Amino acid sequence: MSLDLLNLRGKRALVLGLGVHGGGAGVARFLYEQGAVVTATDLRPPEKLAEGLAVLEGMDIRYVLGEHREEDILGADFIVRNPGVPRESPWLELARSHGVPVVMEMNLFWARCPAPITAITGSKGKSTTTAWLGHILRLGRPDTVVAGNLRVSALEALPSIQPDTPVVLELSSWQLESFGETRIAPHVSCVTNITPDHLNRYRDMEDYADSKREILRYQKPDDAAVLNSDDRVVRGFAADTEARVRWFGSGPLPGEGVCLSGEELVSTAHPAHPLVSLNELRLPGRHNVHNAAAAVTLALSLGVPREQVAEGLRTFAGLPDRMELVAEIQGVRYVNDTTSSVPTSTVAALNSVEGGVVLIAGGASKRVPFGELAEEICRRVSRLVLLEGTATPELQTEVYSRCPSLATSLHGDIQSAVEAACEAARPGDTVLLSPACASFGMFDNEFQRGELFRRAVRELAAGG
Ligand code: ADP
Repeated sequence: MSLDLLNLRGKRALVLGLGVHGGGAGVARFLYEQGAVVTATDLRPPEKLAEGLAVLEGMDIRYVLGEHREEDILGADFIVRNPGVPRESPWLELARSHGVPVVMEMNLFWARCPAPITAITGSKGKSTTTAWLGHILRLGRPDTVVAGNLRVSALEALPSIQPDTPVVLELSSWQLESFGETRIAPHVSCVTNITPDHLNRYRDMEDYADSKREILRYQKPDDAAVLNSDDRVVRGFAADTEARVRWFGSGPLPGEGVCLSGEELVSTAHPAHPLVSLNELRLPGRHNVHNAAAAVTLALSLGVPREQVAEGLRTFAGLPDRMELVAEIQGVRYVNDTTSSVPTSTVAALNSVEGGVVLIAGGASKRVPFGELAEEICRRVSRLVLLEGTATPELQTEVYSRCPSLATSLHGDIQSAVEAACEAARPGDTVLLSPACASFGMFDNEFQRGELFRRAVRELAAGG
């Protein structure tokens, strides 16, 4: 592409999609501060974009809200597209057919970032692995920058990045969609796993997997790719990169890396000296053993000393909203796993709790199959409390066809769902919010869903 992303002064930039969470606003501010002439456009009306518009107050930015216009697309020197704008958007097609370059936030970040970048993607475990690696690195480098898909704008972090600052990014598949535009690649990449997700936006699983593959497609031989050897699709990625591959998984591994040996994590480079025993990890569940293995393999690839890695493994306490213990009330544990938005993560959640489970699940559809989750629900759950949403009837049908006698109820708000769960739970049980579905419809996003759950549980605690 002829566009020079290092010299944006006087360039006409169009921000396509401001977004409700301020992502596009961060981009608009960056472009403005670089001296570009910025227009920001969004299909939503201004009242839906208040958060982003507040960030940009006082800056000389032109807004076209409630619509996109052909003249803005064609009049731009380049477009920065929000990850929320689908790649099939006719507006992007229009831009491309007229030779207007379209990039995304990550192309801008890569052009400016003076330090090598470690980037993590996958269907599940991205945030946990990213935060765990960040925790390990910060033991030696408190200035480590952790950003990306974690509601922290990568561009905002740029001023604090020196050439030797460790930089760790979590990337969604959408953020990877523009890597090919400027052929960017992380110095160290990681794919945690690939399971069905976002099939409402990708044609099929192959298309979805291709979007993840972008993270390592342009890597060079002196880069590293950290891959999950237990995942058939991810294993296949090794053939698509020039980077040297480091593996993590249950073992035996197809090459060098970190695997399970009995109840310990060991590096193939030092098999006689285990890094950590699984019972020293503070996070529950087998899936978190995989996340730990991914974080260690990344840390070792970055040259972190083994003692620091082991300490970081033992001391990481996990992130809120993922298997987060909110309260224990009259012998019942209330666990918030709101970020579980696909069946695989709810299966992982069910496998990591002991005792009886009252499950709160359901919500908006991402067109992923529920069969395996329904099996697990019938095996593990004593009462199913459903949240209304476009996916909920299908989940209900899949469960009903396997175990018609399982008690279920349907709720239009989380408060009544928590009350119903509380009534059904017995001492020793866990009330688990792990929806397996997207949050839109009933909630603004999954974090609001988690916050309302916490609130409802605290009210129970105060009342009981
Ligand atoms: P992501 O950022 O990829 O969505 P998170 O680390 O935020 O992943 O976890 C989101 C949900 O997925 C939580 O419910 C968590 O318990 C579950 N989870 C985390 N890691 C894994 C994994 N490796 N496999 C399956 N589920 C996982």
